[in-house]
Order: sequence, then C-alpha cells, then structure tokens
Amino acid sequence: MKLLPLVPDGQTPVRVLTIAGTDSGGGAGIQADSRTMAMCGVHACVAVAAVTVQNSVGVSGFHEIPPGIVADQVRSVVGDIGVGAAKTGMLASTAIIESVAAVCEEVGIGQGRTPLVVDPVAASMHGDPLLHEEALDAVRHTLIPLATVVTPNLDEVRLITGIEVTDDGSARRAAEALHKLGAQWAIVKGGHLRSSEVSTDLLFDGDQFLEFTAPRISTGNDHGGGDTLAAAIACALANGYSVPDAVAFAKDWTYRCLAASYDLGAGHGPVSPFWRLSS
Ligand code: PLP
Repeated sequence: MKLLPLVPDGQTPVRVLTIAGTDSGGGAGIQADSRTMAMCGVHACVAVAAVTVQNSVGVSGFHEIPPGIVADQVRSVVGDIGVGAAKTGMLASTAIIESVAAVCEEVGIGQGRTPLVVDPVAASMHGDPLLHEEALDAVRHTLIPLATVVTPNLDEVRLITGIEVTDDGSARRAAEALHKLGAQWAIVKGGHLRSSEVSTDLLFDGDQFLEFTAPRISTGNDHGGGDTLAAAIACALANGYSVPDAVAFAKDWTYRCLAASYDLGAGHGPVSPFWRLSS
C-alpha cells in the first residue's frame, strides 16, 4: 500500500470540533464525523454529549453526559487548540442543548463567528429516539438560532417545523420556516424523498434558493449519511469555503460515501468515508 500525506509534514491541520453522540457500532455519530474529518485532512476534536449503545440493527439505549462536562470539553478545546468550525449532532436533552448553546456563545462559535453546522439529530434511521421529545423546543429556539447552517433530514424537518415535505413547494416552505427560526442557511435534504430519481438538497439563506443534486443511490447501507454530510460541510467551512461551496463539496462527498457503502452486521451498514482527496 502506498501512503500519501493528506497534510504536508509538520503542518498543523485545520481543526473541527464535533459536539455529538458516540455510536458503538462505528457507523454514525462522532465516529462518522471523525472519519470524514480525517479523510478530509482535518484534525477532529470531540465533545461527547451522549454515549449510545448501538449496532447495525438499532439503538438499545444511551447515556447522557452531564451538561457541564459537555460544555467543559468545548471550552477546553477551543481555549487551547482552536477550531475553524464546529458541528453539533446528537445532543439528547434540553439541558445539554442549553449548555452547548451557552458555551458556544461564550467561546464565539455560531452565526457570524466561528461557523457552526447544526445537525438536529432526533432519531436513528431505525426510529430509535436520540432526543427527548421535550427538547424540540430547545432545538427550535436555542440551537437553530446559532446555526450557520442547519441540516435536518425530512423527519427532523417535520418535527421541528410541522411541515411534511412531499414536493418542491413544501421543501421551500420548510426551508423558509427553518430560516425564520434563526439559521443563517437552511438545507432541506431530499435524500429521503423516495419519489424522485435524484436526490436534491435545497439551500436557503432568506434570499435565494440553491439546489444541489446527485443521482439517488438506492441502498439500505446509509447509516451515518446525515452526519457525514454535516461533518463534510464543517470541514469545508473550516477551510474557508463559502456555505454554497461547502454544501456542494459535502453533497459530492456524501454521494461518494453512499456509493461505496458496505454491509456490516445484520442491519443497516454505514456509508463509506474511505476516499481520499487529491490536490
Ligand atoms: N447515532 C448517533 C450517535 C448519531 O449521532 C446519529 C446521527 O444522526 C445516528 C445514530 C443516526 O444515524 P442514522 O440516521 O444514519 O442511523
């Protein structure tokens, strides 16, 4: 095997912080984030918000990290190492969301400062909850207003906005509703709209709608796809890309990860981040 460096010798790579849950099966959550970051030549810093008991078949339980410890991890990393962007994933509870939002305000993450990608994770693809229902209000009114980009899937769009996305018109209404909650940019992902040949994601900044399209990959091995997209956006933002350019990169990255996804266990296998960038 020939090894090629993703980061030149001795050069400190760009850092991105993921604030999220772990996946013991290694397919989603912090594990998916960290792999995408590594393959993008980015040093992943992690603030663990929850530990899930999970395999390819489902999530059988989770343990929440005390909110103050989640915030302390963020404070510790940002104060010493510094990050070019951050991303949130599974945050589980109102208390953790409030603690993360407060520390992000304190250290200058979110909105016009260090970019923050908010992936408002609510449930696993098996339907197992990863967020207490009562925490949806905190997602809407505490977390999303900090977002440089918010990246819900269609189930999360419905939970957050009440809008059932079935076509282009409802996707646009949902993007407007997410932007109204305070996100600078909102993505409504079309990946789960089964009616179309392609997967089109809609990006909205309160002014213009932009569309990002890739061929639909039909696979049951799409565990971690949402995390991968959000992590890739964060990597591109940390490298100085504009939001539309970051989304274009992340869409292509995630399409390739889906195309290379693999069987694992008896359930849903993961998307494969085993691509490397060429310069
Ligand atoms: N587990 C954790 C810890 C996650 O953060 C996520 C992320 O979205 C999931 C599971 C769900 O991933 P998927 O919807 O791809 O099953």
